Amino acid sequence: MHKCLWEGVRGPGTALSENMKKDAVIIGGGVAGAWCASELSRLGLESIIVEKGPYPGGHVAGYCCKATDKCQRCGACLLEDVLECVEKSDRITCLLRSTVTQVNRANGFFNISIIQQPLRIHPEKCNLCGKCMEICPVPGALTRLPEKNCISLNEDSCIFFKDGSCQACGDACPEGAVNLKVPAWETQVDARAIILACGFKAFDPREKPRFGYGLIPGVITSLELDSILRGGNFDPGEGEKKIKSVAFIQCVGSRDPKIGRNYCSRVCCGYALRLAGLLGDRFPGIQPAIFYMDIQSFDRDFERRFEAIRRKMRLIRAIPGEVRSGTDGRPELIYRGPGEERIVESFDLVVLSVGISPDPSLGALAELLGVNTNEDGFLGRGGDEVFTDTSGVFVAGAIQGPKSIEETVSHAIRTAGAVESYVKEHYRGENQ
Ligand SMILES: Cc1cc2nc3c(=O)[nH]c(=O)nc-3n(C[C@H](O)[C@H](O)[C@H](O)COP(=O)(O)OP(=O)(O)OC[C@H]3O[C@@H](n4cnc5c(N)ncnc54)[C@H](O)[C@@H]3O)c2cc1C
Repeated sequence: MHKCLWEGVRGPGTALSENMKKDAVIIGGGVAGAWCASELSRLGLESIIVEKGPYPGGHVAGYCCKATDKCQRCGACLLEDVLECVEKSDRITCLLRSTVTQVNRANGFFNISIIQQPLRIHPEKCNLCGKCMEICPVPGALTRLPEKNCISLNEDSCIFFKDGSCQACGDACPEGAVNLKVPAWETQVDARAIILACGFKAFDPREKPRFGYGLIPGVITSLELDSILRGGNFDPGEGEKKIKSVAFIQCVGSRDPKIGRNYCSRVCCGYALRLAGLLGDRFPGIQPAIFYMDIQSFDRDFERRFEAIRRKMRLIRAIPGEVRSGTDGRPELIYRGPGEERIVESFDLVVLSVGISPDPSLGALAELLGVNTNEDGFLGRGGDEVFTDTSGVFVAGAIQGPKSIEETVSHAIRTAGAVESYVKEHYRGENQ
């Protein structure tokens, strides 16, 4: 049983009863937040992770391992390792389905109010039989989480949370694991420092309707492909309908001043090449093609690996102007060839390599803490800084700007180091 999950189901007043004073509150339980907590724990400091989702890990929890016959250094396993450490450490508490609602500063502490929502499906009682999902009348209201060891209920689409008229999942559950009625509760924590590790929002390709996302069958995002592969659900089909050609379109939502995103997302070339390589490797007969502006390599050792991988796919230096539905129902890409000639080419599947965007919902939190945005609209100072303009408030990971998992981990470790120095400098000799 994962300790993180348990903290979210205990009930009002119990989750944090032992010690309400912590060295740091970390807002966001993705790879950045988890690595900060683990590093703080190694340095002897206590922290609480406040994660708004029903499971820790953030975006990375949905990524597949991209290894072919050898490791592709995608970084996905850096999450598994650190979650084990979070689980084992007595210095880390992880609150799921929790959000910070108020922050005041008094006597050297941030006084933080946290609202905790109970986990609706008790992970210890649930045996994953799936009866609740079978009977639920609303598609998507109950989902199996990426880690696959628990089921989650989405209150926004659940009928019970609209008008109370349906409790079919609770009635169907043979283990009594469904808990619709426990209300949310508030917890107060005092912390010496706050780390903002709330991550990013993936670019919504509906903002660029010319790529046909949501309009043309066979157009998906890279996040969706990653999660399908992680779940082992990629089915190339058979016969006429068999998927043989897959086009990746790069820079969807990056390097585009027209939509206010004039920066490179840094990770898309790497993940698209790895995903394309993985498809070609696992499903012989699939020919991937990558449409790109230029390949940006920020990963260590990228050039050498890229040379090996590029031989297995087509690389086309053009970004299609349009994706439309062809006469045979497959998506059709219209792009310019090397001599500026107009080319129309059909593919069985089109994958949009969506970029990393600042999360607009974080504006209120930033305002609450007096944290400014940097030139690209992310929180905190520019460059690779871990400090913000508010003393005692730090940033870690992709909340501060686009980063790969490896970069996020090293940023988080630096943030934890800065928090340790801050706590030592400001609270030297003081007991908790
Ligand atoms: C399509 C795509 C594919 C990628 N593939 C790769 C790859 O293969 N390899 C690689 O190195 N990098 C990849 N990346 C980059 C990788 O996703 C990031 O490096 C990583 O997710 C950053 O971790 P993070 O913890 O900063 O952010 P996130 O993963 O976004 O985690 C942030 C966490 O904070 C929580 N949160 C947000 N707001 C709040 C709030 N107000 N209160 C409480 N909690 C909150 C979220 O629920 C989430 O759990 C990819 C990025 C994209 C867009």
